[in-house]
Amino acid sequence: MNKNDKILIIGAGLCGSLLALRLAQRGYKVEMYESRPDLRTTDISAGRSINLALSDRGFKALRLCGVEDKAREICISMYGRLMHDTKGNTFASNYSGRENEYINSISRGDLNGILLTEAEKHKNVNIHFNKKCTSVDIENTIAHFKDYKTKEEFSINAEVIFGTDGAGSVLRKSYYLEKKFLFSYAQNYLNHGYKELEIPADNSGKHQISNQHLHIWPRGDFMLIALPNLDGSFTVTLFLSYDEGEYNFNNLTSEEKITQFFEQEFPDALALIPKIKEEFLNNPTGALGTVKCSPWSYQNNTILLGDAAHAIVPFYGQGMNASFEDVTVFDEILEKGLSNWNLIFKTFEKERKQDTDAIADLAIDNFYEMRDHVANPLFKEKRKIEMD
Ligand code: FAD
Repeated sequence: MNKNDKILIIGAGLCGSLLALRLAQRGYKVEMYESRPDLRTTDISAGRSINLALSDRGFKALRLCGVEDKAREICISMYGRLMHDTKGNTFASNYSGRENEYINSISRGDLNGILLTEAEKHKNVNIHFNKKCTSVDIENTIAHFKDYKTKEEFSINAEVIFGTDGAGSVLRKSYYLEKKFLFSYAQNYLNHGYKELEIPADNSGKHQISNQHLHIWPRGDFMLIALPNLDGSFTVTLFLSYDEGEYNFNNLTSEEKITQFFEQEFPDALALIPKIKEEFLNNPTGALGTVKCSPWSYQNNTILLGDAAHAIVPFYGQGMNASFEDVTVFDEILEKGLSNWNLIFKTFEKERKQDTDAIADLAIDNFYEMRDHVANPLFKEKRKIEMD
């Protein structure tokens, strides 16, 4: 392995663009291919978690790549959770007693945009948009693509291919289909999906509810959460079963039923979401799943990073943070100066697998914790004290 090796990155999302930036800083030649248009010039946010909780783990990687300050400029600090009951009462539960401990709400698109721009500043990085990878020949290190606009099909040869193409990774699929090695793979979906809605800013562009909290409306079988955006709005996410319970995504198909559901369960939120019916009926319902697989790499040729290797459900707010941490750990291993990519890849997986499996399990546990919080006697007791 040397700096002249051509590195191909598939997927210019959060993990891919940070990885491209770091590898470029280390002097590697990077070609990155992304299936979607450039999000800095096209609005493609609809239906994908518009904002995310960024924690210290994520900041560590951003610091390593010299982009921490730029990211901090677009963050909103959230010091705790604010729970809402069905009567509109609220109960605050801070993340810690200390003033300087908080998590951050950040726009996915803006953060991704910063990372792309920083990566592109390096002469040794080229980013190609609208190019969808269709399969990877892992034996010969060749990726096959289709251009969305021209429909042209083409192939790219590289010394090394990184698959940062998210939970539905084509590189991971190629591992499975090519059957060159024993590939263990499990994808487990929750019976709950998610839908995004919006609480707009008030007439003066301000937040209508506290912007210092992550808001939660826990209701046993389902829940609503809201994270603040810099423009005064909140992105609201409903987590709900597809087909179980009195209300579910499959039966909430009429305006009357949607209104009835929100009036009954989330009256204070309903009052703040003016386009509830339109958004509920038009915004997509996203699936939530966990991906565990191994090995992540094939010989000196290919490796999976980020969600492609370890997608998790979002209830710990750690998927992006863990994907960023991949870049931190990968960089530490590069620093050791190991003699070939295979050794680097194997060392990386050995270092990361246990941690990413652990956060995947914690995220599932926290789904039940957040969902059932309202039924917890302690929560009720605390709320009573608060209301007294
Ligand atoms: P992605 O962000 O999915 O990026 C993959 C990229 O590859 C995309 O740009 C995609 O267009 C591109 N791509 C896909 N297929 C191809 C192809 N065939 N060819 C070329 N390009 C391709 N994480 C947190 O840390 N905090 C949170 O608060 C949080 N909240 C979340 C809320 C929800 C509702 C969801 C669903 C996830 C949340 N996450 C959160 C998780 C986070 O979104 C992911 O972990 C993170 O996006 C992973 O980054 P990635 O770059 O690996 O994958």
